[in-house]
Amino acid sequence: GYRSRASFKLLEINQRDRLLQPGATVVDLGAAPGGWSQVASTIVGPRGRVLAVDLLEMALLPGVEFILGDFGDAAVLEQMLGLLPDGADLVMSDMAPNLSGVRDVDQPAALHLAELALDFAGRVLKPRGALLVKCFEGAGSQALRVEFARHFEQVLVRKPDASRDRSREHYLIGRGMLPITP
Ligand code: SAM
Repeated sequence: GYRSRASFKLLEINQRDRLLQPGATVVDLGAAPGGWSQVASTIVGPRGRVLAVDLLEMALLPGVEFILGDFGDAAVLEQMLGLLPDGADLVMSDMAPNLSGVRDVDQPAALHLAELALDFAGRVLKPRGALLVKCFEGAGSQALRVEFARHFEQVLVRKPDASRDRSREHYLIGRGMLPITP
């Protein structure tokens, strides 16, 4: 069985958009308790790799390399970059802040995590790679889409059935990294 209901969101998105491929190198940001990593490691298989990170400890999964730490921490970022000398085919982030319930606090925190994922993707994605990021509709979410459009040939918005009870939650997909001219 899967460790989290989140697995079904990734399965549904992947069924439509085919982000996960056998042999692929996948980065799972905010991976605990491991539902997405389970799905990813099954699909990438023994020739692929899954590199996962979370603030919280996660029970071992076969075929998944796990780093315990804050993805916003420069040392954690450097460690991950060091483990990806050939880059990644897919960066996926289901990271979410600890919700305080105060939208003016939670929304910027969530956007910041999405931006960290976008910056990281710019550093590790292969040219045909893809980025999948959890987002919340609200202040700044339109600007984030515009930012995605600056970085990717194609930007898609997905709201899997398993997210329907979480009204503001959705996922952005970027495919085909564009060279950025500052
Ligand atoms: N996709 C996961 C699954 O399928 O099991 C569920 C992820 S859960 C919705 C969000 C996770 O993001 C939490 O485990 C949380 O600890 C993690 N997270 C939030 N901020 C983080 C950060 N700065 N660095 C690493 N992980 C973070």
